[in-house]
Amino acid sequence: MIELKNVNVVFQQKGGKIDAVKDVKLKINRGEIFGIVGLSGAGKSTVIRTINLLQKPTSGQIIIDGQDITNLKGEELRKVRLKIGMIFQHFNLISGKTVYENIEFVLKANNYPKEKRKDRVEELLKLVTLKDKAKVYPSKLSGGQKQRVGIARALANNPDILLCDEATSALDLENTNEILSLLKEINEKYGKTIVFITHEMEVAKKLFHRVAVMNNGVLEEVNDTYLIFSNPEKQVTKSLISKNLDIELPLQVKDLIKQGELVKITYTGDKSVDPVISSASKKFDVSISIIHGKIDYIQGKPLGILLVNITGQSEEIKKTKEYIKENVTDIDEISYNSQGGVE
Ligand code: ADP
Ligand code: MG
Repeated sequence: MIELKNVNVVFQQKGGKIDAVKDVKLKINRGEIFGIVGLSGAGKSTVIRTINLLQKPTSGQIIIDGQDITNLKGEELRKVRLKIGMIFQHFNLISGKTVYENIEFVLKANNYPKEKRKDRVEELLKLVTLKDKAKVYPSKLSGGQKQRVGIARALANNPDILLCDEATSALDLENTNEILSLLKEINEKYGKTIVFITHEMEVAKKLFHRVAVMNNGVLEEVNDTYLIFSNPEKQVTKSLISKNLDIELPLQVKDLIKQGELVKITYTGDKSVDPVISSASKKFDVSISIIHGKIDYIQGKPLGILLVNITGQSEEIKKTKEYIKENVTDIDEISYNSQGGVE
């Protein structure tokens, strides 16, 4: 239902031009939660803004429900935009208006019939469970509550599509989870298509059905969320996932692993990694010590991650890694930074 065809966005600057989005081709299905991840500056905001033409592509086309909207203007563009709501990292609420007025404002701006506005605002307040905050000003709300007002505003005109630009990046973990479950509900109960961009892989893991990885303006790979995490193809994807590992190693462990190679083994839930490790250490002249292990659940499916340190002759280490690789999903050499964090 959303299709980006060879979309390019070039910004002309004094110092030269910036190719923010390079030849992006993408299809997003109706009713899915589609995420775009990448480092800051990758072009995520620029690309998501082309979907509602807040950013006009320099070249390429934006197709919504079969209609090429790239060159729409005026009333026609306004109509298409009513079908696309958007929420932002910093909520974009009007500070001088109450929660109720913030939502009502969007209805007014779009000529929603006056006599129906009150019911609609109340319906939206109920949806985002903020009925008791109707008369409160934004400054008195938590970040999660502010974003719920943002969501109510974005849904006011009953759009089919909800665009989310780093919608949880200003929130703590608890508020993030609250917003993610609300978005899931909005997707499941009301069938809204959600396009969500973020630099936080944790959000991808919890929310997205499919993930696109962007780097330097290029769409590097697109896959089901589980496959992106269990079987990343591109180096940039691997590095994003490793950064999300969130493992801080104590200094003693760091000293220990200086002697060998630190590798990350990713294995899917239907495999067991223990027999592979023990037979590898018998088969080859190496010693393998387990540094860290955890199991994640992505879309209900388990994904195991194990950090091991392999010591021995480099040829033996190489053979060990190959052997492990044949028996698990993915294996990667990783390093640790000066603070002891794993990358
Ligand atoms: P992300 O959202 O992934 O952090 P952006 O889409 O914001 O990335 O930016 C991609 C690139 O385009 C960056 O180099 C950024 O500086 C540049 N850029 C974004 N918006 C503009 C603009 N309005 N004018 C000039 N350069 C821009
Ligand atoms: Mg951005």
